[in-house]
Amino acid sequence: MQSPRLVPTPIDAPEPPPAALACWSCGGPTPADSLFCVTCAAVQPPGAADHFRRLGLQRSFELERANLERRYFDLQRRLHPDRFATRTGRERALSQAQAVSLNDAYRTLADPLARAVYLLHLGGMDVLAEGCNQIADPVILMEAMEMREALAAAQSGAQVALFAATVAADIEECVGDLAVAFRKNDLDEAAKLTTRLRYLRKLIEDSRARHSSRG
Ligand SMILES: [Zn+2]
Repeated sequence: MQSPRLVPTPIDAPEPPPAALACWSCGGPTPADSLFCVTCAAVQPPGAADHFRRLGLQRSFELERANLERRYFDLQRRLHPDRFATRTGRERALSQAQAVSLNDAYRTLADPLARAVYLLHLGGMDVLAEGCNQIADPVILMEAMEMREALAAAQSGAQVALFAATVAADIEECVGDLAVAFRKNDLDEAAKLTTRLRYLRKLIEDSRARHSSRG
């Protein structure tokens, strides 16, 4: 057992167990992050569970895609509108609200860039507002400008395709580096890499758009 004063709280530290809430339908206690009341089985409001908890996953950048999908589709099936067709309006509305929160959680966690931004947010670092292209790190900024020039200089469709393949490899590498940074709980490094991943993604979109526009 390590001394807690020497160890910063890691980003994937288990959260305290959720407090029990009173079920809106029967009044009985039910876990705050439970979809259905454990007493009467009535669907509960989505509540404030984070995306990982909502999907029953450990808070981590590295996640098994197959596991994420399995949990998502299982929960989605349990919230299917057909199951609530004969229920009260309140239960139908709550099941829809749960489905919206579930889809939001899945979309965020399934995408490495969105997942990184979200993990940083959970760690108290709100970087990279949507649509903000500002890059503060000079090394990353220089690389971004050089790659932008390389794309502009690519003449033929084959050159653009080759460029896109290089960027795709860079993206894979960047995602691997992000995993290491989050594992070490190095949020500053993770924030830089997230910025890099964002512009790499933009670059590959732009190069694909150019490639297809040339036929
Ligand atoms: Zn109940």
